[in-house]
Amino acid sequence: MNYDYVIVGAGLAGLTFARIKADEGKKILVVERRSHIGGNVYDSYNNDGILIHNYGPHIFHTKDKGVYEFLSRFTEWNDFQHRVLSFVDGNLIPMPITLENVNKLYNLNMSTEEMKDFIAKKAEKIDEIKSSRDVALSMAGQEIYEKFFENYTKKQWGVDPKDLDTSVISRIPLRYNRDTRYFTDQYQGMPKFGYTKMCESMIASKNIKIMLNTDFEEIREDIPESAQIIYTGAADAYYGYKYGRLKYRSLKFKFETYRMEEYQEAPVVNYPNDYDYTRITEFKKMTWQKSDVTTIVKEFPCDYDPDDPEADEPYYPFPTKEWKDKFALYKADMDKEKRVHFIGRLAQYRYYNMDAVVRTAIDLAKEV
Ligand code: FAD
Ligand code: UDP
Repeated sequence: MNYDYVIVGAGLAGLTFARIKADEGKKILVVERRSHIGGNVYDSYNNDGILIHNYGPHIFHTKDKGVYEFLSRFTEWNDFQHRVLSFVDGNLIPMPITLENVNKLYNLNMSTEEMKDFIAKKAEKIDEIKSSRDVALSMAGQEIYEKFFENYTKKQWGVDPKDLDTSVISRIPLRYNRDTRYFTDQYQGMPKFGYTKMCESMIASKNIKIMLNTDFEEIREDIPESAQIIYTGAADAYYGYKYGRLKYRSLKFKFETYRMEEYQEAPVVNYPNDYDYTRITEFKKMTWQKSDVTTIVKEFPCDYDPDDPEADEPYYPFPTKEWKDKFALYKADMDKEKRVHFIGRLAQYRYYNMDAVVRTAIDLAKEV
């Protein structure tokens, strides 16, 4: 085991770090317990020949030029700009909250200035914004909260928005213009040949060795003192759950293929108030693949349960004070480690997007 770095997890955090250090001539071992690289951005062709995202839809978007330039070494991009429709009161209404959204919801034809007055009257004055419910109410008022946010959030997280950290609904903007794109970041798109291909290019270095189907625990005792460890798995698992298990939300995915060219009007349609799933994604609308069949995925949120094979992926750290406090116990231990560095969505217990994870890995690589 003559490695400079042993990296646990072949997701974007691990692979970014691996590649930067490999380019510096360091010897890297990546251990990954799944049978493939890429972590949650892994995509593959299904039996119908459609490129699907196996762990749910992933849209790359960032304001961070450094992250975009780094990933662009390994892929070209299509210039996809994400759009979402929300099924509310029998209509498909553009999300997020924009002039188009409000005009369609209320069947009006307001201008930007009129929308500003309209929203100012609806938005609730809340002195101290403490929860995601406060965020939505102070942004756009009770009615929009109830129609677009309340039930979607209850489905997604299994709790009331008043019990969730402000960071959850703060992800959704309000815009007084007609820009219906879901993200307005300068850099956005899908890797032209998919995320897995991008990740394959990231590890195409003679200095990187990958061990798939291998859990960290299987090699933990064999790592020499001289190697540094970059750990991107779950924080509680690293410490043998000594302070108890952290809470995560998971998803059950239902993929369906239809003999039709197009299934729905937008890449993603959200269902805040109907059905048990939160949203339907149609992959071809993001990847621009041509085919006379189309594959969609429905997402059914549930609690993470390591004993349930359908819910055994810890996708979302749970954004409440209780669980942040519990994580802080592990974090205090993590901060004391000398040769182990913790990065990524699981290890840092943060609702990170891909770009944030890549940024953390780039910054860590500069530091160590
Ligand atoms: P992961 O991708 O989770 O990788 C960690 C890897 O470590 C996994 O492969 C895991 O198997 C492995 N591992 C864990 N423990 C061990 C162990 N003990 N031994 C060996 N291996 C181990 N971000 C966006 O920017 N845009 C989006 O549209 C978007 N959509 C998303 C949709 C869904 C449904 C989800 C769940 C996330 C989405 N994200 C999105 C977030 C994105 O997936 C993450 O930010 C990013 O993939 C995290 O990378 P990571 O390397 O930190 O973690
Ligand atoms: N959300 C909502 N209604 C929507 C879309 C999002 O209430 O139509 C809330 C929900 O709580 C979700 C959060 O806003 O968890 C963030 O949404 P985003 O689309 O960023 O979630 P992601 O799918 O990226 O996790």
